[in-house]
Amino acid sequence: MASAITTGKDVLSYCTKCKLNLSHTIVAMKDEKSIAKVVCNTCKSTHAYKDPSLSNASKTRTKTRSTTKSTGNTKVISISDLWMEQLNKTTSKSQPYTIDCKYNQGDVIDHSKFGPGIVQSVKEGTMEVVFRHEIKTLVHNRA
Ligand SMILES: [Zn+2]
Repeated sequence: MASAITTGKDVLSYCTKCKLNLSHTIVAMKDEKSIAKVVCNTCKSTHAYKDPSLSNASKTRTKTRSTTKSTGNTKVISISDLWMEQLNKTTSKSQPYTIDCKYNQGDVIDHSKFGPGIVQSVKEGTMEVVFRHEIKTLVHNRA
């Protein structure tokens, strides 16, 4: 501890009259480490010591954090998550994709370009397939 706080020394305190953090002179001590009363060097009024860091900063500090964190918790399901989940769930064996074959919902196909994919829905002649990075509409059952 370099400089002990004692009466007669200057400290920064929040002044209740000036409504500012200003230099004050200590007039009374509560104990060795805590200041009881101070005199404002600006307006010369005597009042209880108020920690300058508590008076101002507390208002601005608190909020901001909680909002940014909650967005991280809301789960966004990406295509690759969906793809992974579907692949894990399925019991179908993957079959090579050809345009002529007919596929059913839940089938796993092995596409030469896009890799493994899971058939999401089947329409007349087309089907929606989830691949690792994208959902594609593919032609099938052309024969
Ligand atoms: Zn003052």
